[in-house]
Parts: sequence; C-alpha cells; structure tokens
Amino acid sequence: MTLSRFESSYIYDLDVVTASIQLLRSQLPQDSTLLYSLKANPHPHVVEHVANQGTGLEVSSEGELQIATTAVSHRERPVEIVCTGPGKTNAYLQLAADAHAIVSIESSTELSQLRRLKLSGLDILVRINASATTQRSGLQMTGTPSPFGVDEEKAEHLIREVVDHGHNFRGVHLYMGSNILSEDDLINQFQISTRIAARYLDHSSGDFIADLGGGFGHPFAGPGPTPSWPGLQERLEDVTEPLKARHAQLAFESGRYLVGSCGSLQATVLDIKESKGQRFVVLSSGVNHLGGLTGLRRLPQAQVTSAQSHNADDSERLVGPLCTPVDVLSKKSHTQLTVGDIIVIPNVGAYGLTASLGNFLSHPYPPEVIRLGGQTIVTTQTQVTHQELIPA
Ligand SMILES: *Cc1c(COP(=O)(O)O)cnc(C)c1O
Repeated sequence: MTLSRFESSYIYDLDVVTASIQLLRSQLPQDSTLLYSLKANPHPHVVEHVANQGTGLEVSSEGELQIATTAVSHRERPVEIVCTGPGKTNAYLQLAADAHAIVSIESSTELSQLRRLKLSGLDILVRINASATTQRSGLQMTGTPSPFGVDEEKAEHLIREVVDHGHNFRGVHLYMGSNILSEDDLINQFQISTRIAARYLDHSSGDFIADLGGGFGHPFAGPGPTPSWPGLQERLEDVTEPLKARHAQLAFESGRYLVGSCGSLQATVLDIKESKGQRFVVLSSGVNHLGGLTGLRRLPQAQVTSAQSHNADDSERLVGPLCTPVDVLSKKSHTQLTVGDIIVIPNVGAYGLTASLGNFLSHPYPPEVIRLGGQTIVTTQTQVTHQELIPA
C-alpha cells in the first residue's frame, strides 16, 4: 500500500515506549506494579507492546477491555487487567468477569448489577474519591464533588457490601489527578492516597492491592522531553512504607507518560490564506485528528517542528480543514510555511487520534504507522461503518 495519497499520518515508535516505561519504573518503588491506561492510546499494537514490557493494563470501557484481552491473549503468564470507569455497562462487567479481571467498583449500583448478572467471587477494588484537595498542576479529578469513585466517608460501607455480595475485596483504587509536573505535587498526592489505602488493609482477605493512581505529567502537542523527578523513587519508598510493611502490592497507573513521546502527527499544508491581517495556515489535520477537546476550551496549542519552522514576527493561526471555526490547532504559531510543506507535531502519542473528533465532517482517518527497531512493522487505518442492527 502506498501512503502518498494520505496528507496526514500518525507515527508511533515503540522503542520510545520501551524507554519511557523503563524511565517511569526507575522512579517508582521497587516491585510495584505499573498499569498502562488504554485511554491514552488504545491502538492494539501499542497496547500489545506495552503489555509485553511486563505492565498491567487499566481499562475503562468494554471496547478497551476487548483490546486489552486480545493484546495479552498469547501471553503465558496472566497480565493484570483492572477495569475502571463510572457507569459500567452489563456487557462490560460480564466481559470483566469472563476475563478474570479486577474490577474497580464505583458505587453499590455496580454491585447490584453484578448480582443481577449472577456474577460473584470477583476480585474487587473500591475506588475512593479522597476528600483532600491535592495538587496545583494538571487536571484535578478528586477532592471536589466527583462522578469518580465513592467519597471517603462512604468507602467503608461499600467495602462491607462488596464482601456481603460474595466478592473478594482486594484493595482500593485512588486516582487524584492527571498531568502533574512537580515532584512535590506527585509526592503530596501519593501521601494522601497511601494514608487512605492503609486504613483498609485489614478488610482484605488476600494480598492487599493499593492502586495509588498516577498523574505523571508529560508535554503534549509540542516539543519537550519526557520529564523525570530525581527524588521521586526514594521519597515514594518512604511515603509508601506503611503499605509495604504490610506486604501490600503497590500499583501505579499511567497513560501519557508511557506513550506521549512515542507519537507524532505529520500533516500537510494545504493552503495559506490571509484574512484581514491574519495569516491562516490550513493543514490536512484539524480537531478531527488532534485535540478534539478544543470546543471545550482545551485548545491543544500545537507547536510544529519542521525544517521551515522559525521565529517569524508575524503570528499566524494553524487551522484544520473542517468547516467550523473551532477547528484551530494553534492560535499563535511562528512558522514560515508554504503550501505542500509537511509539518510535524511531536508528543501526541497520548490523547491524539482517539481523543479527537474523528467522525466530524467525515474526512478519512489518517493512517497510523507503527515503528519498531527503525522499521515500519504495520500501518493501520480506522474505518467508520454503519452496520444495520435490526434488519428491515
Ligand atoms: C485518565 C486516567 C489515567 C491516565 O491518566 P494519564 O494522565 O494519561 O496518565 C489513569 N487512571 C485513571 C483512573 C484515569 O481516569
């Protein structure tokens, strides 16, 4: 197949993923479990490669669980899969039971669902929404009213229900924020999650799992190295001592840190226009390929790296090909591009294509090129179909 008819493509380099996993592991306590969050990039080849490095998988939907089970089906030793997410469907819970996955329960409704599905004896974590507000950077997902998990005050009751329903209470799950860049902020949240987890050590019948969350930050859609925190491992060893002393299994979750740097988006300059003093660079990729959260004021502020990129004085907008004013990749760019140039947006291996508005305006999905050992091993393209569910 030739890629030349495609103006845009995503490229994922799996060797970079291997290095990022090693880098994060070297900053976590010895013997802790690292779970990869498929939300960041659920491409089957990426997931399989990540799992081959000995990580577990954290999934939050039926679709992600299907990808995860397929990716690990050929492995001899079972790979730990943790099913998370609010509003679990019956199909998701059934598949979780079939896959012998660990389920992170968010509410007693989910326990009633399991009972109606006649599923018992599952390994269950209880997800807790911590009361403390923690970090200043990143996206906060806890400490405030939250659709995720149960409030701290209700956790004990839910744990008792888990046991009453005939399941194995295996431990707790906390996830306090995303994209945290400061070592102190990371330590601060792990102090809180450790303190909460330690309260429930005696409630578990088997080995206690303390899934302490993650939130390890990473640059997005612009240049920048994968961060590292020189004191993190040693400080985490200290912080988690109350759990380690009781032989709890520590688990950490990460999406963007593990795969953010592996991916780049290549796009073509299709047009350059001038309107009332503003220069518009029209790319072959817009919010259908990257940063579809623009409409929610989460503008990616993409920065391109390309041979032509330089600090020109006149600022310009990078826009996509969609017929909507929200299709902006960057409000301010300083390049000197011409039509036909290829631009590269780095650090989009996480929250790239599947976090975008792929179906909007029905452009084709860009090919996704998977590279390993300096070679392309496979190229895929997502197809959108409309299958008839109830034949006429
Ligand atoms: C989104 C999410 C993650 C992954 O977040 P990253 O910032 O990509 O590391 C992990 N766990 C839970 C519960 C999440 O919702």
